[in-house]
Amino acid sequence: MLDQYGRRIRDLRVSVTDRCNLRCVYCMPADGISFRPAAELMQDDELVSLIRIGAEVGVEKVRLTGGEPTVRANLVDIVREIAAMPGIRDVSMTTNAVLLGRLAEPLARAGLRRVNVSLDTLDPTQFARITRGGRLQDVLDGLAAAERAGLRPIKLNAVVVRNFNDHAVVDLAALSIDHDWDVRFIEMMPFGTVGDFAEAGVINSEETMARIEAALGPLAPVDLSGEDPARTYRLPNAKGKVGFISPVSEPFCAKCGRLRLTMDGKLRLCLLRDDEEDLLTPLRRGESYEQVKERFRAAAFRRPFGHALAKRLYPHQRVMIQIGG
Ligand code: SAM
Ligand code: SF4
Repeated sequence: MLDQYGRRIRDLRVSVTDRCNLRCVYCMPADGISFRPAAELMQDDELVSLIRIGAEVGVEKVRLTGGEPTVRANLVDIVREIAAMPGIRDVSMTTNAVLLGRLAEPLARAGLRRVNVSLDTLDPTQFARITRGGRLQDVLDGLAAAERAGLRPIKLNAVVVRNFNDHAVVDLAALSIDHDWDVRFIEMMPFGTVGDFAEAGVINSEETMARIEAALGPLAPVDLSGEDPARTYRLPNAKGKVGFISPVSEPFCAKCGRLRLTMDGKLRLCLLRDDEEDLLTPLRRGESYEQVKERFRAAAFRRPFGHALAKRLYPHQRVMIQIGG
């Protein structure tokens, strides 16, 4: 499946819920968000149908996200159905890992291949401040369970926030020395009601990289091709890698092959623009499977090029927890 700019679309990120057991400062405004009524969210069969349509038009990789995907009921069954779909060769999940202690094993058995774990600091107090009350030990236990369950490769994602965890990047990067993990640093993006906060606190990848190199030595390039949104490097004698994802300072639109399905059944054509195609309403209205598939294909073709962060404009309709990162 190609879009109007000839970019091949293979990845679908599916948000399975807008609920979460943490409340990260860059993802949710301080006074919370109003969750969508359950009736507006995709039911299990609707979610599976829309992903199946995606697989039939060319999606090969599905990543589950949210909100926190592990708080969705029946997640293991959903994963089993997706993993069995013809055409799908990779099912992964982005998670805060808090519930992986008990879910890693059943998810792996159901066909989940790998996880990206969000972890912004190794300091328990700082962790509680960024997540507004989370317990670091839960995440560390979840990570250990993911390793035991064979969910590989493990990638860690840290959003770097000035005056929160800007110095924690050194300890996080150092994890890649003894572990075969990809530790990736993400520039904070502005969305909706956290837009001003994100614009004020963003730290670009260049600054993060300089801080890591000053403390841990030179980062040798591993993959700067842009095929993956992360540019990856290796610290001296490290088993794992360090990566930088720079949507603010170096947009990677030219190689982007990704679509998103929001928890309320809308195909979002770019993370950083508000263009969406509602698929759930037509499905519920009784449109045929073939008609909904045509909507999917047509929307995917329309995928825009370029986002507007450089012009200091950002999406306003949803914050990250409502989109699915
Ligand atoms: N709850 C899961 C988690 O935290 O991994 C999955 C959903 S979360 C919205 C997905 C990713 O988006 C996380 O890695 C999170 O750090 C990232 N994220 C959230 N808000 C962001 C922002 N404003 N800028 C950059 N990344 C953000
Ligand atoms: Fe929850 Fe993930 Fe957002 Fe943090 S980043 S509030 S864990 S959805």
